[in-house]
Amino acid sequence: MNYLWRLIGENCTGCGICRDVCSEHAIKMSRAMAYPEPIPGKCTGCLDCVTQCPFEAIEVTPLNNYSNQTENEPKIVSWR
Ligand code: SF4
Ligand code: SF4
Repeated sequence: MNYLWRLIGENCTGCGICRDVCSEHAIKMSRAMAYPEPIPGKCTGCLDCVTQCPFEAIEVTPLNNYSNQTENEPKIVSWR
């Protein structure tokens, strides 16, 4: 399954909770970064970042028909 990880930038406060809750370490965010950034290929679509974000700033959507990758290769294909 492939996933589209999208940040709704106007909602994001840069709190970093999404990075901290991601057990796959699929979200990158340093002190120098205003916004979180997904690391391509690491997201498993668990939705923890979506449910834990206090500001409803993340959407993770399965892309069932995205044909460029294999079935068992979870991948973030885009953000924003
Ligand atoms: S948890 Fe939500 S508000 Fe906080 S940095 Fe992540 S996306 Fe932004
Ligand atoms: S959906 Fe799960 S694996 Fe993907 S970035 Fe969010 S917390 Fe990490």
